[in-house]
Amino acid sequence: MKILAVGAHLDDIEISAGGVLAKAVNNGHEVKTLIMSRSGYTNKDGEVQRTDESAVKEGTEALHILGIRDIEILDFPTKDIPFQSDVVNAIDLCINNYQPDIIFTHHPFDTHQAHVGVSNATIAAARRKNTIFFYEPISPSGRSYVAFRPQLYISIEETIEQKLNSLRAHKTEYNKFGKEDWIAGVYARCGFRGYEMGKKYAEAFEILRIEMSLGKGIEL
Ligand SMILES: [Zn+2]
Repeated sequence: MKILAVGAHLDDIEISAGGVLAKAVNNGHEVKTLIMSRSGYTNKDGEVQRTDESAVKEGTEALHILGIRDIEILDFPTKDIPFQSDVVNAIDLCINNYQPDIIFTHHPFDTHQAHVGVSNATIAAARRKNTIFFYEPISPSGRSYVAFRPQLYISIEETIEQKLNSLRAHKTEYNKFGKEDWIAGVYARCGFRGYEMGKKYAEAFEILRIEMSLGKGIEL
């Protein structure tokens, strides 16, 4: 299978679906990531939190830890990726060239404006595709007025360590978000989703739509 994961920023995909994508690679599926921004940003005082260069370097290393080599990084502004035609067109082009069987994108009721824009733009660009899943938003992005509904559970028992190590590779984010406290938060959520499905660790997704082929299935 060919899997496309679309993310606004370097680190979104690793936090939300790193375990599943590493598992897909390990099981011989093709995985491509489309990152919409080079992901450098400043804080509200204008202080640089992360340069584009360090984000790209750390993010590439993080995706390599997951076994992902097909990495496309676009140049939309980190904080402002709106639901408009140039963003839709960029995703459309990627989908047309790559022809994925499964697409992952952000949850449309995430609180981060760039995540919301990317979600809606992916939904528009993927209008002819049949299997689309939304990431579980990460704190505090999930604290919105429409809750994420966990509908698809995938066990990541084999790849939880790969996922956590990919986050540690994001050194600037790791330092900003509390180092091992950040890792512990992500780890706990994987443990919680795993417990819900009777496994040790899992990632959960919301389903926009899904194509199922009886006989072949869509199993990872
Ligand atoms: Zn993000």
